[in-house]
Amino acid sequence: MAAEVLIQSGASVDLYDAMPSVCRKFLLAGKGGLNITHSEPPGPFLSRYGSRASRIAPLLDAFGPDALREWVHGLGVETFVGTSGRVFPKEMKAAPLLRAWLHRLRVAGVRFHMRHRWIGWDDGGALTFSTPSSESAMRADAVVFALGGGSWSRLGSDGAWVPLIRARDIAVEELVPANCGFDVGWSEHFRERFAGHPVKAVINTFTDPSGRMHRQQGEFMVTATGVEGSSIYALSAKLRDGISATGEAIIHLDLAPGRDLSRLVEELSRPRGSKSMANHLRSRAGIDGVKAGLLRELAAAQDFDDPKRLASAIKSLPLRLVAARPLDEAISSAGGISFEALDEHLMLRSLPGVFCAGEMLDWEAPTGGYLLTACFASGRAAGLGARSWLDSQHKRA
Ligand SMILES: Cc1cc2nc3c(=O)[nH]c(=O)nc-3n(C[C@H](O)[C@H](O)[C@H](O)COP(=O)(O)OP(=O)(O)OC[C@H]3O[C@@H](n4cnc5c(N)ncnc54)[C@H](O)[C@@H]3O)c2cc1C
Repeated sequence: MAAEVLIQSGASVDLYDAMPSVCRKFLLAGKGGLNITHSEPPGPFLSRYGSRASRIAPLLDAFGPDALREWVHGLGVETFVGTSGRVFPKEMKAAPLLRAWLHRLRVAGVRFHMRHRWIGWDDGGALTFSTPSSESAMRADAVVFALGGGSWSRLGSDGAWVPLIRARDIAVEELVPANCGFDVGWSEHFRERFAGHPVKAVINTFTDPSGRMHRQQGEFMVTATGVEGSSIYALSAKLRDGISATGEAIIHLDLAPGRDLSRLVEELSRPRGSKSMANHLRSRAGIDGVKAGLLRELAAAQDFDDPKRLASAIKSLPLRLVAARPLDEAISSAGGISFEALDEHLMLRSLPGVFCAGEMLDWEAPTGGYLLTACFASGRAAGLGARSWLDSQHKRA
């Protein structure tokens, strides 16, 4: 986005990337359906950025979800709003959009330099790169870094820039997993039987250490070590912070959201005769498969002898999360360059002429298109910032 804004303004633009091709994570994001942005109104949309909402607000004011959709349409790619309000390209994929975009950038004159890993600055202040054959230095009137966070390092975003930036006394918050799975520590039996099974129609409730309750309806997946998936990702920032504050995060699962507690007690109190407990649960409470497995795994054995206790366990089954999965597995990263280190144009205050954008900045958001929207908006802001910086330098000269 920065390259596009700058080339359109008449600047000469060189784009460097450590990988053999650009936008590998963007392409991966398109594999499961590229959720480019969200259609909800500006207020709720902005609230998704939590404590960084005030920092993201000016970026979205200048280039928000509607402008982003227009931009996508301008590349010849139609978009549609899904039932959840999420916005996707009509073909769901990232590749056609990326192809059209790269073509437009090349035609406009952007020069792409692949397999160029930025490794710091030389004594004269030039950017230094390692390439497969050598090291090289490059001087520029303005620089925009968009080096990503620290997840899925095999796609290029390995967070190796963190010590390079910190060495210049610039505040960088530790990169930590966001939109991530969590470890539970299942029994061998449960893991073997249910790893890979989706738990559908469930409500997760989490009360954070400050006493605030967070509730998320949806589905999640049982993994070999714990849980992952949309209804977990949506709570993941709170869960991660809860674990770092207290060593654990306990979510309560409502396995039967459509049935109220008193009705469940009534149903489960009916005599089961010669029916097995599994059949009784299936016919009276609609609990079977992985949900029955979770109940066996997490409820106390005595709960099965008492309909009231059993119904309570079904409506509020405690699931103890002990650790976030490693950063490399996460959808995105929290942490990054502190906004305090940047001016309103995303220029590093202590390195005039150097701008930063995208996931390498210290913000986070849930999945739902909010990540890409803020990446696009910040890239554009950094490009415009670099443009005004170049103009101000020319005026001075
Ligand atoms: C599986 C998955 C699905 C996702 N789905 C969605 C989705 O549907 N919607 C959504 O909004 N978000 C989604 N995301 C998140 C989104 O893809 C990222 O937030 C976004 O790509 C970040 O963009 P970025 O440009 O800041 O960083 P990146 O896309 O990570 O790009 C950083 C670039 O910098 C390069 N680089 C890093 N270090 C150096 C260096 N030292 N020298 C040279 N180059 C370097 C890398 O090679 C890379 O090309 C998904 C993420 C994942 C992992």
